[in-house]
Amino acid sequence: MKIEVLTVGDEILSGNIVDTNFAWIGDYLWSHGYELHVHSSVGDDPEPITKAINLAASRSQVVIVTGGLGPTIDDITIETASKAFGMPQVLFPEALEKIKARFEKLNRPMAANNEKQARLPEGSTVIPNDNGTAPGCHIAFQNTHFFFLPGVPREMKKMCEDYVFPKIKELSPVKTEFCQKVLRCFGMTESAMDRELASVDLTDVDLAFRIFFPEILLKISARGSDLNKVQKRVHEVEAFVRDRLGDVIYGEGEEMLPQWVGRVLTERGESLSVAESCTGGLLASLITDVPGSSKYFKEGVVTYSNESKQDLLAVPSEVLKNHGAVSAETAIAMAEGLRKRAGTTYALSMTGIAGPDGGSPDKPVGTVHIALSSPSGTQERKLFFPASREWFKRLVAFSSLDILRKHLIH
Ligand code: ATP
Repeated sequence: MKIEVLTVGDEILSGNIVDTNFAWIGDYLWSHGYELHVHSSVGDDPEPITKAINLAASRSQVVIVTGGLGPTIDDITIETASKAFGMPQVLFPEALEKIKARFEKLNRPMAANNEKQARLPEGSTVIPNDNGTAPGCHIAFQNTHFFFLPGVPREMKKMCEDYVFPKIKELSPVKTEFCQKVLRCFGMTESAMDRELASVDLTDVDLAFRIFFPEILLKISARGSDLNKVQKRVHEVEAFVRDRLGDVIYGEGEEMLPQWVGRVLTERGESLSVAESCTGGLLASLITDVPGSSKYFKEGVVTYSNESKQDLLAVPSEVLKNHGAVSAETAIAMAEGLRKRAGTTYALSMTGIAGPDGGSPDKPVGTVHIALSSPSGTQERKLFFPASREWFKRLVAFSSLDILRKHLIH
């Protein structure tokens, strides 16, 4: 079955947004035994949309279209498709009721132009949108199934999972077996990893590197007619990769490093506080992005100045005077001061030079000291990340979590 994705929006063509809808759909289909054969994007313009729809109908059995289903004048996907299919737009009363109900729930008046969203091509099936106002629709045109979905990723994904993907499975059950393992890594560069894994046997298996900076995901996948064989090959390659990379691999699947740390602290009934300087609160933000973090995260302080390091963390003035704010001694005093004050099992601290100014020959931009205070004592590490401010902060925040992770596993 030939499946195609068409994303609509001027913002995509102008580079204002990255087409993550296409990437997400492609990834889902690929990891479920299907393959996209074409992906294209067009602007909010009737002519290219019409041409793209006609071309898609001539070459694909399934076409997933996202974007341009909103209530505004530039949202013209449905109107253009109706004309291309020769199906008049008609009001779907049940779709209108759902839009009205959504506005009532939000306690906001429905604008007149929202009614337009319930006007769909005659004969189409409504695809409900639980996360937004614009309903989607499914139209069978000639021998092609068209699925029109909103551009907003959260809405589009739910509608794909609830309606479009089950429909695709119904239209063409997959005969190919598929197995995939995702290993999440931190603490080694992509090229070093590549060298380490150079001798892996990739017969009938695919090994892909995906960067979710600063994490690296290794996707091991295989397809074939024999499920046992497919699984065996994935497990063999996984064992090889684990043997070579050791504790650089911190987890599997969807669990990112802040979630991993949160899960393990929760399981152990332990708590964490963080004292940040050069990361400016990023670490506390990453930790609190995880639902349930209040169970283990007690306190985060941003001590950017020397005074605040003394006032809030009791860093002795002699330490700051003799060693400087960016030093092992200060990082240790920050972590110990915070652990004492917050009364948590662990306290992490970090102090460094994000740049672009402020470096010196013995403390160049990119230098950072990270300390972890725990019941068994305090450890400190000096690291060097000569990167942009944004990357430096992310690397330092993730490295701090990784130091805690290694302490927890060892
Ligand atoms: P709305 O009701 O919000 O107008 P819509 O179906 O008209 O929904 P668009 O206006 O095309 O959707 O896009 C709304 C937003 O969704 C965009 O501003 C963008 O943030 C996001 N978006 C749209 N298309 C894509 C895409 N292909 N990939 C990632 N994000 C997208």
